Amino acid sequence: MSLINKPLIRVKKSIIQGRGVFAARRIRKGQRVIEYTGEIIDQAEEDRRGYDDSAMSRHHTFLFKIDDEYTIDATHRGSIARYINHSCDPNCEAVWEDSRIFIEAIRNIQPGVELCYDYAFEHEGRLTEEDKALYFCRCGSKKCRGTILKPKRRRKKHRNK
Ligand SMILES: [Zn+2]
Repeated sequence: MSLINKPLIRVKKSIIQGRGVFAARRIRKGQRVIEYTGEIIDQAEEDRRGYDDSAMSRHHTFLFKIDDEYTIDATHRGSIARYINHSCDPNCEAVWEDSRIFIEAIRNIQPGVELCYDYAFEHEGRLTEEDKALYFCRCGSKKCRGTILKPKRRRKKHRNK
């Protein structure tokens, strides 16, 4: 196999959770890694499929919420982007472009390193203890905030240099 044909990424068992996606070759900062594909469904269809919050916890890597209306459901017809785990200190980010989601590297990533992005799930209303357990983060990074939920909005601090 030539180097050109060698895939950029591959799926294997992750220490974070279940399966994960790993760099098979060196990925440079800013490089587009993969498109997050699946079926684009609206809120009514999502409700019909019965993905409540507890299902989200089991399938959370397979649903990508685009906005209040639409979600990408990668459960059956999705790209392997669905196996990318969450990290509070990620090396990738999800980029929205022309109604499509792409995963792009925000750092240089060496072969063998697991790819992650910040899921930053939005949760409406108060969190119960069950919710907290559901969204508990095990990314293991030093910056881990303990949850895969989006951090509460904070005012940005500006410092004079
Ligand atoms: Zn974390």
